[in-house]
Amino acid sequence: QSFAELDLSPPTLKALAAMGLAKPTEVQARCIPPLLAAKDVLGAAQTGSGKTLAFLLPIIDMLARLKFKPRNGTGAIIVSPTRELALQIFGVAKDVMTQGGHHQTFGILMGGANRKAEADKLGKGVNLIVATPGRLLDHLQNTPAFVFSNLKTLCIDEADRILEIGFEDEMRQIIKLLPENRQTMLFSATQTTKVQDLARISLRPGPLYIN
Ligand code: AMP
Repeated sequence: QSFAELDLSPPTLKALAAMGLAKPTEVQARCIPPLLAAKDVLGAAQTGSGKTLAFLLPIIDMLARLKFKPRNGTGAIIVSPTRELALQIFGVAKDVMTQGGHHQTFGILMGGANRKAEADKLGKGVNLIVATPGRLLDHLQNTPAFVFSNLKTLCIDEADRILEIGFEDEMRQIIKLLPENRQTMLFSATQTTKVQDLARISLRPGPLYIN
């Protein structure tokens, strides 16, 4: 199977070719079609399976399809447990957006980084955000210029690690603040009770399970 068979946009296919990626991994082949169709997905994919592109490619194509502009604010948020992982996801997003010539804006919000610089950037409109939970909640609550009323997609990556680190309360508050009418994707290597609880409050009933 090729990426072209997965209904990805020409700019995204161009980016994948430039990145030297020819064929989707199994998790990409299974996740990308339902995610492009705006379904909710609960994925048990492990690191190394190619799950980063499995959630990034449909998100990037959705933002392009809906012609997100800076003034529309944030259309997608990816929540990651650690700064290291957030930076890694951000780097892959940047590669796809740059190589594909996508016009959407993107940024990262994370603990330890300059809060004021992040708030200023949010004021200019950031279509795709990669964030760690604490700093994301901080901006949702305290940065009035942060426009997230148009949010279409929430992606919770490595949910088990997010909860192990102790971000359960932050995640609950984040989910309460975000628009309810959205797509949610949740990835977790292990399915603990806490992960199931988070899935129950964040995903719509009847998500697609992919392991
Ligand atoms: P991930 O599981 O998202 O952390 O990805 C693990 C590694 O697989 C990364 O180094 C990716 O660059 C690589 N990768 C992701 N998708 C593909 C693909 N379709 N073909 C070859 N390598 C890939």
